[in-house]
This record gives sequence, C-alpha cells and structure tokens, in this order.
Amino acid sequence: MSKFKGTDFYQIEMLLNDEERLIRNTVREFIENEFLPVIRDNYRNAEFPSDLIPKMGKLGLIGANLHGYGCPGLNNVAYGLINQELERGDSGIRSFVSVQGSLVMYPIHTFGSEEQKQSWLPKLASGEAVGCFGLTEADFGSNPSGLRTRAEKTNDGWLINGEKMWITNGNLADIAVIWAKTDNGIRGFLVEKGTPGYTDKPIRGKLSLRASDTAELLFDNCLIPENNLLPETVGLRDALKCLSQARFGIAWGVIGAAMACYEEALNYANNRIQFSDKPISSHQLVQEKLVYMLTEITKAQLLALQLGRLKDNNKATTAQISLAKRNNVYHALEIARHARQILGANGILDDYQSMRHMCNLETVITYEGTHDIQTLILGKQITGHNAVF
Ligand SMILES: Cc1cc2nc3c(=O)[nH]c(=O)nc-3n(C[C@H](O)[C@H](O)[C@H](O)COP(=O)(O)OP(=O)(O)OC[C@H]3O[C@@H](n4cnc5c(N)ncnc54)[C@H](O)[C@@H]3O)c2cc1C
Repeated sequence: MSKFKGTDFYQIEMLLNDEERLIRNTVREFIENEFLPVIRDNYRNAEFPSDLIPKMGKLGLIGANLHGYGCPGLNNVAYGLINQELERGDSGIRSFVSVQGSLVMYPIHTFGSEEQKQSWLPKLASGEAVGCFGLTEADFGSNPSGLRTRAEKTNDGWLINGEKMWITNGNLADIAVIWAKTDNGIRGFLVEKGTPGYTDKPIRGKLSLRASDTAELLFDNCLIPENNLLPETVGLRDALKCLSQARFGIAWGVIGAAMACYEEALNYANNRIQFSDKPISSHQLVQEKLVYMLTEITKAQLLALQLGRLKDNNKATTAQISLAKRNNVYHALEIARHARQILGANGILDDYQSMRHMCNLETVITYEGTHDIQTLILGKQITGHNAVF
C-alpha cells in the first residue's frame, strides 16, 4: 500500500481553479522563503516583521477580496487560501492581514465616503499605510454594546474620549477605525495617527500571538474633522458585520496552522524511535492522534471551501461563518495540542512550530467573538431564542 503524503486526503485540490491554486502556491512560497526563516526570532523578541508589509501589498495579499481602489478583487476562496497559507506561517501575520483587510479596509469600503475610500484604500492595499480596528474596551469584550468611548459632535468636528484595549496593529497603525457612542447610537470613525489626544501603548507580556502588534489606544479630547465619521455606519451591527468578515478569514487561516502542526508531528513521529527499533508512529495511540488530526483538517477544508463558494454567491450567512470559525479554530487548537504532545520534550522548544501555533490559537479562539459567543450565535439561529443568562 502506498503511503499517503500531505494534507489533501480528499483531493480538494480538484475543487480549486487554476487561479486559486496559483495564489495558494505563491503565498506558500512567500511564507517558506521570507517568513519561516525569521519567525522564531520575531516570536522570541515579540516583534511583528513589519518589513514584510510592502511585500504582502505587492503580492496582492492585503484586502484581497475587495474590489476597486487598488484592491486585488479576488474571489473569497482565493482570499481564504491566502489566509490559510499565511497562518501556516503564524497566526500573527494572518492577523495583520485580517485586521487590515476585513476590519479596516472593509468598513471604509462599505461604510466610507468616496473621499475616504480614495484617500485610504489604495495606500492600505499596497501596505504603504497600516490600519487598526478599535471596538473592544477593557470592560467590554464579548459585550461591545456597553462600550464607553464617546464621540461628541462639536462645531469643529467630533471630540473623542475613551480607551480601547487589545487592538491588533495598534502601535503600527497610521489610521484607526474607532467605534464610539454618539447621541445617535454607535458609529465608526477614522482617527489618524498624530491627532492630538490620540496615543497608543504596546501591550507587553503576551504568551500568545507574540509576533503581532497589540496595543491599548487612548483618546483624550481627541478632535477629528467632521468628515472622519464613516457616514454609512448606523449602529453596532456595522461593527459586527466587520467581525463576520474577519471570522471568515480566521476559519480558513487556522487550517494552515493545523496543517503545519500535523506535518511537523507526522515527520517527527516517523523519525523518533522509542521502546523498540520502530518509530513512535507505529504505536496505536500515536496513530490515533494523527488520524484525528488529518480527519479534522479534511473536514475543516471542506467546510471552509463550501463557505467560500457560498460567500462568492452572496449566500453565506453570519451563522454559517460562526459555525466555521467555531469548529475550525477549536479543532486547530486540539490538533496543535496533539502535535505538541507527539513531539515530547522537544515540543516545548521553539526549534519546532507546534507549541507556537498552540499558543497563538489560544488567542484565535478568544478574539473576533470567543468560542462560547459563537455557540450562542448558533444556538439562537437554531432555536430562535437568545440563550438565558
Ligand atoms: C491578541 C488579541 C488581539 C485582539 N485584537 C483585537 C482588535 O484588533 N480589535 C478589537 O476590537 N478587539 C481585539 N481583541 C479583543 C477580543 O476580540 C476580545 O478579547 C474578545 O471579544 C473577548 O473579550 P474579553 O477578552 O473581554 O473576554 P470576556 O468578554 O470577558 O469573556 C471572558 C469569558 O467569558 C465568556 N463569556 C462572556 N460572556 C458570556 C456569555 N454571555 N455566555 C457565556 N460565556 C460568556 C467568554 O466566552 C470568555 O470565555 C483582541 C484580543 C486579543 C487577545
């Protein structure tokens, strides 16, 4: 019997078109040649590899599924595959692209004025500018409707006061999409770096997503021009629409992390000898772990692919996206944990990738709506009832 190699057990490759395959292979090569050689040191030093931002722009990886204004205009499956290959490298680099594309460019594209689109989207797509998205506050994570940041209308524009917490790309950002309460509900605003009263502070001591920039943002009587309001935002539901876009990318991205862990564990298990002259991959309990890993990777790929095809036909629902985020992140994290165990003591060293992916996925299962919050969204979809608190 010939030995199966790789992670495409169901020949999902057949379901991709030539352009999708080409894009996936290009990103895979970029990650192998330019990212994997540096990620260990970046992770140790808690630094995002910012020098790769313009390269990602040039490759068309930023805001890839948006159309016009210098955006690549790819379909959603190609966009998903980009996320998968980036996260095969590290969740941090995929998070950069998710935030910039889904949480900054998407709201400008969807809710922005023509002037805002023209002035920001081309720069963000090329990587010339960086953006961040500020919804979460220290006391309002899963329940953003309670947020306290306020935007007061004055004769000179909008006066913003408040604090945002856990903001990806927050220190790097040239532009922040900030969600604040106004007299007419929650609206989105563009706040430019350098505006008096706007400061960013790095969040230190992360044991997860170390090679990603995370900040606290402070707004102290920060006056922004009137036309920095995203005019088409009408309430919190618009911020949640952005999160749904990001969750779609996450559902694809984590498959890449799971693939990297599975491949590392299989290779290790085939070479590590214990108890006899046979590799540990010949033991039943190790095989059980590897079978679980490949089964869940296969299911996750099929789920993400069908979701991408639905999204390309404008048929993907918020609940379907939640299901894919919930399922794929949960199993990617389990796969990373299994891989780390197969690697034994070596698995705790950063010479290997699995523990880095495992630590990262602890963030991914928490952000953009925790696993439990996705459960509540789905529970409501199935039963019609808000869960009883
Ligand atoms: C590295 C990192 C990057 C991030 N990047 C961004 C960003 O760029 N922009 C941004 O706005 N935010 C960002 N976040 C914030 C993230 O979205 C929030 O952390 C997340 O929404 C959870 O909020 P919380 O941490 O306050 O947890 P909490 O809301 O306090 O939840 C704690 C626990 O309680 C559970 N829980 C809460 N409510 C319920 C309920 N009703 N029923 C059952 N269980 C419940 C949760 O599932 C969770 O397990 C980031 C977070 C991290 C860690």
